Amino acid sequence: MSQKPPELERLIPGETLAERVRSLGGEISRDYRGRCPHLIGVLKGAWVFMADLIRALDLPVTVDFLSIASYGGDTQSSGEVKIIKDLDAPIEGRDVLVIEDILDTGRTIQFLKELLETRKPRSVRVVALLDKASRRVAPVQADYVGFRIPDAFVVGYGLDFDQKFRELPDICVLRSAASR
Ligand code: 5GP
Repeated sequence: MSQKPPELERLIPGETLAERVRSLGGEISRDYRGRCPHLIGVLKGAWVFMADLIRALDLPVTVDFLSIASYGGDTQSSGEVKIIKDLDAPIEGRDVLVIEDILDTGRTIQFLKELLETRKPRSVRVVALLDKASRRVAPVQADYVGFRIPDAFVVGYGLDFDQKFRELPDICVLRSAASR
């Protein structure tokens, strides 16, 4: 097993993530009882969270993925959001749950919600594993939040820095990237 690089500091241990994902799953299952929500994962950061979340749901679901670019190879948001891979299927009439890794400035979710609304879903709600509320620029919120975290650049549990660290089981602060 490889050693944890020294610049990483554990913020949320894997066991705590698992517990919170289970309780989020219970909450969503109660709210959507009798329905079959359509989960849209925002690639690539949200896929680990989404894989755990669907198994914590006591509901039938369908899934799709969108791939967008908002951060390049560094930790600075460009403020621009671009679709790299669109949805495979229409969402008209569906109860959509957008699954995001982290809500930062909120620009990505604002863009996605506006885009998805044009496709006439029955409802659109947002599930964000992490929320850096102090960084918000766009007036958006997630309907379900795993953890509110301080303004630090985090990696692990699917989140990357320059495509690295996605495999870490914990959410860690990347110290060398924290000064922005
Ligand atoms: P927003 O549009 O809300 O500013 O940014 C959302 C996206 O920025 C997230 O989906 C994620 O891809 C990226 N992002 C924001 N903060 C962090 C962070 O601390 N770590 C990582 N790895 N990505 C982040």
